[in-house]
Amino acid sequence: MRKQIIVGNWKMFKTNSQAVEFVKNIDSQVESNSNLIAGIAAPAVMLSDLTKVAKNIKIAAQNCYFEAEGAYTGEISIPMLKDINVEYVVIGHSERRDIFGETDQMINSKVLALLNNQMTPILCCGESLEIYEAGTTMEHVKAQLNANLNGVSAQDMTKVVIAYEPIWAIGTGKVATPEIAQEVCKNIREHIASMYNQEVANEVLIQYGGSVKPENIKDILDQADIDGALVGGASLVEESYLGLIK
Ligand code: PEP
Repeated sequence: MRKQIIVGNWKMFKTNSQAVEFVKNIDSQVESNSNLIAGIAAPAVMLSDLTKVAKNIKIAAQNCYFEAEGAYTGEISIPMLKDINVEYVVIGHSERRDIFGETDQMINSKVLALLNNQMTPILCCGESLEIYEAGTTMEHVKAQLNANLNGVSAQDMTKVVIAYEPIWAIGTGKVATPEIAQEVCKNIREHIASMYNQEVANEVLIQYGGSVKPENIKDILDQADIDGALVGGASLVEESYLGLIK
């Protein structure tokens, strides 16, 4: 039995005080246990305060750099995140790839550095509308996974969370049907089996992301190969976040 993992991606929203208030208000109503990991990926300036107030909610970073330290103005290292008890880091979100020019190679370096530091990468992958309409989603996603997971051992692979996020469904209100999402997530699991083995593939947690809301999350999580969700917009309001988790 795989766990479920539901993570809110706050992107560049909220101030520190709003974020702390949010987590204080709802943390006791959320249970992270052996069956469910409930998380929030918050902007970097809030992480330190949030890890102090979150007892049940896992606080994740939205990005990191792969070097441990050095002359990298504006970047945040993995030891810095570890020191404030952050365990999960979203890597390779389509906004980072498309707006900030992150390459597959950089994403691969980040995945490897996180695993070397016993932290969990939430590795995002997914296709644009153009690729979806051309019917080449799986070729694209497989190429991303091959590049982003290069050098990851079978043992470490079981610790990676994959977030399949079709870009055309992010923040657009257009959700991939549960059947489409399931089909791609099943293919991702099969691809992981071909890259590693069936046991590793059976263990890997795969999330779906793209306009998930309290109203549609159940149908999505009912799919055999979908183990959770990465949620943007609907994770920003307390009631709605709780609705996703409940
Ligand atoms: C995301 O930010 O990863 C995301 C899926 O956003 P939304 O839920 O708003 O589509």
